[in-house]
Amino acid sequence: MTNSKIWLSSPHMGGGEQKFVQEAFDTNWVAPLGPNVTGFEQDLAQYIKGDIHVAALSSGTAALHLGLILLGVTSGDEVICQSFTFSASANPILYQGAIPVFVDSEPETWNICPIALEEAIVDRIAKGKKPKAIIAVHLYGMPFQVEAISAIAHRYEIPILEDSAEALGSTFKGKKCGTFGTFGVLSFNGNKIITTSGGGALVAPTKELKEKAVFFATQSRDPAPHYQHSEIGYNYRMSNICAGIGRGQMEVLAAHVALRRSMHDFYVDYFANIDGVAVFCEPNTDYCSNHWLTALVVDPYKTNGKTREDLRLALEQVDIESRPLWKPMHLQPLFERYPYYGGTVAEHLFENGLCLPSGSNLEECDRIRLQEALDGFF
Ligand SMILES: *Cc1c(COP(=O)(O)O)cnc(C)c1O
Repeated sequence: MTNSKIWLSSPHMGGGEQKFVQEAFDTNWVAPLGPNVTGFEQDLAQYIKGDIHVAALSSGTAALHLGLILLGVTSGDEVICQSFTFSASANPILYQGAIPVFVDSEPETWNICPIALEEAIVDRIAKGKKPKAIIAVHLYGMPFQVEAISAIAHRYEIPILEDSAEALGSTFKGKKCGTFGTFGVLSFNGNKIITTSGGGALVAPTKELKEKAVFFATQSRDPAPHYQHSEIGYNYRMSNICAGIGRGQMEVLAAHVALRRSMHDFYVDYFANIDGVAVFCEPNTDYCSNHWLTALVVDPYKTNGKTREDLRLALEQVDIESRPLWKPMHLQPLFERYPYYGGTVAEHLFENGLCLPSGSNLEECDRIRLQEALDGFF
């Protein structure tokens, strides 16, 4: 037990999941629709609150793709995307044959920088093409600068596709992430704050748009007794089995957010006395992160030359998983030929940042092991 690996973020079952999955078997709802799908969507809508409608899908990536389709993004269009993110934020732009335009982060929330965003919009318009959408991300659960980014989006009348895949349970001024864009995206992959083993959801502003998302997600079948199609369809709906796991996970979501935040407190306390290590925290009380992953930045000039890579390798030696921050999209071989606006904020974070084990299932003995490993290194 004591020598088992400490993971960055692993699935954490609450106990109620199997009852919903069993129910699906008992009633033979083993299909990409059924009472668990409807129930999970209702649970999510109730949790997120506001005038929103949730479509449960096969993944967060599918939700991003359908979000772009519903915003009318097609071949040749330009879509602005936060560069500092996971590739799943940007790939669906290419699925649509559209062109990603990447924008740097700001150092407060590590998310899309309002100054670089406006510069990008103005320049793209001057070059003859107004961007069709803005993909803004709440990275590591930290809300982006909601007011500044929304104000720019309004001014230029460009919709926001809000990638809230890492931020279920995070809030800005008391309002839940997932509600700030025209569409919001959630993920229930195995490493996220709750999991359905794999899954996602699109948060839509109206019942009609939610139904349109479900239409696309179920092969775009026109109303007819035979199979009739006039639009491209996708197989993106969540299964009733996965949704059963999701319903069980919803019973423990609030507790899991509290546990992740307590893991973050543990690191904040630990690093308070260590020079050259800054734990990523909310800029002020308007922000509340679910702290999906606790991240930190190492300044080797203040740690006697110790780098984040030295720390990562030292932790690996004792079977503790940690990981560099996301490599910015504009530095990825797949995306480096696309336009980029901003400076080196994201690049600096990638070079000096590290994510530490943050799961809601970490126990006291894990914290002791972490503390010993960190003591040994610093
Ligand atoms: C996990 C993640 C996604 C994709 O979600 P999947 O459910 O894995 O497809 C998208 N964006 C971000 C920022 C993520 O972390």
